[in-house]
Amino acid sequence: MVDLQTQYQKISTEIDQAIHEVIVSTKFINGPAVKEFADDLAAYLNVKNVVPCANGTDALQIAMMALNLLPGDEVIIPAFTYVATAEVIALLKLTPVMVDVDAETFLIDTNKIEKAITPKTKAIVPVHLFGQCANMEHIMKIAQQYHLFVIEDVAQAIGADFTFSDGRKMKAGTIGNIGATSFFPSKNLGCFGDGGAMFTNDDVIAKRLKMISNHGQTIQYQHDEVGVNSRLDTIQAAVLKIKLKHLNEYAEARNKVANFYDNAFQNHPNLLIPQRVKNSTHVFHQYTLQAINFDRDELRKYLAENDIPAMVYYPIPLHHQKAYADKRYDGNLPITENLCKCVISLPISTEMDEEQLNYISSHVLNFCNSKK
Ligand SMILES: *Cc1c(COP(=O)(O)O)cnc(C)c1O
Repeated sequence: MVDLQTQYQKISTEIDQAIHEVIVSTKFINGPAVKEFADDLAAYLNVKNVVPCANGTDALQIAMMALNLLPGDEVIIPAFTYVATAEVIALLKLTPVMVDVDAETFLIDTNKIEKAITPKTKAIVPVHLFGQCANMEHIMKIAQQYHLFVIEDVAQAIGADFTFSDGRKMKAGTIGNIGATSFFPSKNLGCFGDGGAMFTNDDVIAKRLKMISNHGQTIQYQHDEVGVNSRLDTIQAAVLKIKLKHLNEYAEARNKVANFYDNAFQNHPNLLIPQRVKNSTHVFHQYTLQAINFDRDELRKYLAENDIPAMVYYPIPLHHQKAYADKRYDGNLPITENLCKCVISLPISTEMDEEQLNYISSHVLNFCNSKK
């Protein structure tokens, strides 16, 4: 799905040198590159604080711990998302409340949020799924009206810009109280292992994020509350510091691929291309088509037979997973249920050439033309 090898080859001298420096220094934990990368990322995002941690799931969990959410509190999430979003909520004994998404953009349907709010609701977690921002203007308005926290899950959309109706632009993850992201290798800004970070403009929250991710301590061996151990390795930070400089160019390369696919598929009666929202740029973490009137799994099989690794994000709705099953949702999340049946994500990466794109799109079209 992603060609990380070619991407690495292009910057290998610089990366190898940076990793080597960390090894020679032996400062594997909290070495200088960790703070340097956090500062560089804060500058890139135009946010006051970046707090690195071990992975994106931890970032979400620590964010919720920092906001003092308590067992029984309800947290609103989109029903169509990666499991991590719901997982940390359940783990903290909070209650995930699922809201359906928009059928064409895959993003939480903000018109359905208010109906899901109860006196127990404490937070909303918009997920900027596949690389573009949920409607943060509407979400922030609702959050303000009902006094709710907003934690942005920006694991798939780092670098995307949201534009408010007054023209103000802000980076994904810097609009709510906290943004939580992942540096998993295949994410748009990926390291060479696991990594994550939280962003916030609130200095008080930033202090809590740091304290909780460091065993609940501010002064060594003094633990004010129960925390976790969640750090970004120095080697990962050194890699990320270099890759951050290329993030905009990586997003451009992904957009070129998406534009190519759009052109190839936009007029086909059996395919729905991913719709782009007006108030956000798209960084195309995934390029996700919808199969109309044919079996998505047959297309996936045909592509696999031709060495094209298409993927299904996500095949089972959260509310149909054993761990998150809840009868109340049956029939109430029709868009999510339908998307799980018809979505298919094509390979997209920073390193694709015309030949690969022609090969992939002609195979998709071959298959779909046989279904017309
Ligand atoms: C990848 C991802 C996460 C989790 O990140 P990890 O680093 O794998 O823990 C959370 N939310 C979304 C939407 C993701 O895509």
